[in-house]
Amino acid sequence: MTSYAPGYLKLFKKGELNKRAEELMAILDDCSLCPRDCHVDRSAGKTGYCRSGYLPIVSSYCAHHGEEPVLSGRKGSGTIFFGNCNLRCVFCQNHQISQPTCSLKDEEVAFERLADIMLELQSRGCHNINLVSPSHFAAQIVKGVDIAASKGLTIPLVYNTNGYDSLDTLRLLDGVIDIYLPDIKYSDDNAALEYSKAGDYVTHSRDAIFEMKRQVGGLVVDSSGIAVKGLIVRHLVLPNDLAGSEESLKFISEEVGKETYMSVMSQYFPTHKAAEYPLVSRPISHREYERVLEWLHRFGLENGWIQEHSSRDYYRPDFDKDEPFEED
Ligand code: SF4
Repeated sequence: MTSYAPGYLKLFKKGELNKRAEELMAILDDCSLCPRDCHVDRSAGKTGYCRSGYLPIVSSYCAHHGEEPVLSGRKGSGTIFFGNCNLRCVFCQNHQISQPTCSLKDEEVAFERLADIMLELQSRGCHNINLVSPSHFAAQIVKGVDIAASKGLTIPLVYNTNGYDSLDTLRLLDGVIDIYLPDIKYSDDNAALEYSKAGDYVTHSRDAIFEMKRQVGGLVVDSSGIAVKGLIVRHLVLPNDLAGSEESLKFISEEVGKETYMSVMSQYFPTHKAAEYPLVSRPISHREYERVLEWLHRFGLENGWIQEHSSRDYYRPDFDKDEPFEED
């Protein structure tokens, strides 16, 4: 347990945060912010695979009480859901905002507004700023954080990513992000291609996890048990073992470290286009989940959290509501 000042504050005081924001924003002129490498001029409003231009798109924000306990604490994780995505998961539970049927242009916000949202979440008592699907807006986020830091933002930043991240972008986030929360979605590129349209996911996500670990190290919590720094890896179990759980857990254990905090999730629910893909068209079975927990144990991954198998129905957001996770 320790007291900890977020990394971006140190960079802000040295003027380095502003420089990082400028460097990242320059990438938008010929965008290679993520592994898609679209090379479109987002500064001129052009869009690539992620369908996103110059300004950040904020589809929703709230104090989220359903994240891992070290993130949600008592007052919630200050969660900002960015619109659009650089993956196309056919089963995405956030598909209303990640793969919308119409343009999200009217949800674009100015950088000052993004900063004000961060400050509002902090003033509500949230323990951190939880950036959901940040990869295609990494530049805009750092610009927003630079403004927010000048106006008093002091809580840690959580980079809550699908894991399909570019190493060059991550290197520019070194010292900016306090807590990395990547998914490890697949261990087989054929599955990644079929279900998320990313046939090079495995290499990119593994390289990203190594870089994240190098930057922030193991999980550190404060005297209240709230995360202030470090790495937590999420793994969503898919039906028919399409997530390649055994291999992914082995990779984390043997190459990232047995001490890694894992969050293993049973909440898979066949939504969005999943019904069109027979192998992902059902929830996972009790036996499938038990087997993953056995692997977790076998590979000595004892830090972290597992969901109850029966909890799978409680994590389905509705982004038509002001608070996506509130029940009717
Ligand atoms: S952030 Fe968007 S435009 Fe840029 S490389 Fe990735 S998908 Fe393409």
